Amino acid sequence: MPRFESLADAVGGTPLIRLTRTGLRPRIYVKTEWTNPAGSVKDRAALSMLQQALADGSLAAGGTVVETTSGNTGIGLAAYAAHLGLRSVVFTGSSVSKEKRDVLAAYGADVRLVDAFVPKSHPDSLRSVAERFVADTPGAWLAGQYDNPANPAAHVRSTGPEIWADTDGQVTHLVATIGTGGTISGTGRFLADVSGGRVQVVGADPATSIYSGGDGSQKAIEGAGHFVHPDAETDPWPESFDPSVIDRYEPVDDTTAIRAIHDLARTEGILAGGSSGVALAAAYRVAEGLTEDDLVVVLLPDSGRNYLSTYFDPTWLTANGFDGDGSDGDGSARDGDAPRVGDLVTAPLRTAERDAITVAAVAALGPADGPVAVLHPRPRTAAPHPADVAGWTTAEALRTAAPDTLVGALAEPVTARVGAGEHAATAVRRVAGSTPDWRHAVVLDAGRVTGLVARTALEQSAEQA
Ligand code: PMP
Repeated sequence: MPRFESLADAVGGTPLIRLTRTGLRPRIYVKTEWTNPAGSVKDRAALSMLQQALADGSLAAGGTVVETTSGNTGIGLAAYAAHLGLRSVVFTGSSVSKEKRDVLAAYGADVRLVDAFVPKSHPDSLRSVAERFVADTPGAWLAGQYDNPANPAAHVRSTGPEIWADTDGQVTHLVATIGTGGTISGTGRFLADVSGGRVQVVGADPATSIYSGGDGSQKAIEGAGHFVHPDAETDPWPESFDPSVIDRYEPVDDTTAIRAIHDLARTEGILAGGSSGVALAAAYRVAEGLTEDDLVVVLLPDSGRNYLSTYFDPTWLTANGFDGDGSDGDGSARDGDAPRVGDLVTAPLRTAERDAITVAAVAALGPADGPVAVLHPRPRTAAPHPADVAGWTTAEALRTAAPDTLVGALAEPVTARVGAGEHAATAVRRVAGSTPDWRHAVVLDAGRVTGLVARTALEQSAEQA
């Protein structure tokens, strides 16, 4: 093992590990980025951005490192800021897993939760809040991973050359996800150039991400893909992403990605995170068409240990409408024969689009008393994500409102979520624990909204059990 004289020197040099149980023809190696000191591929970008800022004077001793992040970049920045004697402030959303937020705090970062569901340009967005903080704080520097050239440059310098050297130049395909695009742009650019264009670069992308042509709606998998707030007027792609390096995109849905990491853990003994599942599923699809002469490298950004409360938690899986491998969290013993949410009480989703139309234009929406989901308007290629549900109302409320009232004005928020395969009694207990005064819940199948259920209806079903 090499010996390092500082933490920063230990970044990179992550292993390539061959998968032995895929049954596919090409050699498939995973590059496990969680062996970086702070636990993810983002260590490389975080250190690179910090070093560049210190070198060009935009950050100085005693300064404050600031970033908006879905977790891993913040963790890398917090770790290397601590190492360099700098303070760090990380703005993040509550959808980021609790494990990641706890790690940030453990490194001494000041973690600020910003939970407004608004477009990036809105004054309450993560980005706007962080920019205001930087403007008001002397010595503060915003890392800006989405547009910082030091992010992709880290991968041109390190990740790409490592893969080339460790495969003796035999790599034929690189498969990686795209968040800021730093990883795939830098690594892909290096490998394409050094191989004279022979290495194919595959962009593994959550199916709803706009990079690969999805509708831009949210998804369960953190870190990878690009979503667009329905009210955003424009949403430019990050400058860190160079789409010209991509030879082919492979869209992967949440269920397939989650299944891929469950299988990887149980068949290969490798515990990887959700975006790794997107990359793996894409790689397996690509590998179907390849031969023994091909060598596929799949970049796995972080470890499954960051997701023990989500993709690896049976309760989370059933509550979000993923099958959870047939188990039902802590309710399984007690509720074995109880009715499941989806079997009994779920009405098909009745919807009105928020604010795109006035109530006068909402024609008969069915029974007056049944709930109607009010959605943020956006082009939709899949069932809506819970983040697209602006609230609920009733057909009666829509019919009786003044004609020039906007639909959104009649919507009450829906914070509760239940899984279509969850036992009614389990769901009632679980939701009451987190959202005591709930009245309606969205019903999720594979993370997408398929219905709305009233608390009274769900409680009735639970009692019948
Ligand atoms: N997966 C995870 C878990 C991440 O945190 C990130 C970074 N947002 C990515 C994938 C994508 O990496 P990049 O930003 O370099 O495209």
